[in-house]
Amino acid sequence: MRCPYCNSDRDRVIDSRPAEDGAAIRRRRECAACRQRFSTYERSEQISVGVRKRNGALEPFERAKLAAGIEKATKNLPVSPAAVRQAVAAVESRLRALGRREVDSEVVGGEVLAALRDLDRVAYLRFASVYKGFTSTDDFARELVTLEGYPRRGPEPAGRMKPHG
Ligand SMILES: [Zn+2]
Repeated sequence: MRCPYCNSDRDRVIDSRPAEDGAAIRRRRECAACRQRFSTYERSEQISVGVRKRNGALEPFERAKLAAGIEKATKNLPVSPAAVRQAVAAVESRLRALGRREVDSEVVGGEVLAALRDLDRVAYLRFASVYKGFTSTDDFARELVTLEGYPRRGPEPAGRMKPHG
């Protein structure tokens, strides 16, 4: 690492510690030439993911947009802000785990549906109705049948009645 004081590239690390809540490592360095000390920060590279829309346009993946979509679907439902944040993080990490520079918007939508399915079934149906372009109650009924076929993961959200049984 080039010394900011004398431009020498000989230095040694004298201390390393986590910084920014674990998102970075701060290294304290000492220049071997001029003995000045300086710090460097190491962070994992944030890979930008593009989302290919149905109309062919490519947009950068935006966490805020994803969060807004999930918040809208869960509005006025017994879903805590923490659970929403968790769902957003789960979708984002699954998308990043694909390791691709570009994903189809269908893939994003599918991950959101998977997250909402576990979170709240009304939220799931709300999102599905927009995402899949429901035009009739039959569409809802069909989706509900599909939804009932999925086993529930995790505890039932407080205050929500089971659809039957
Ligand atoms: Zn130096």
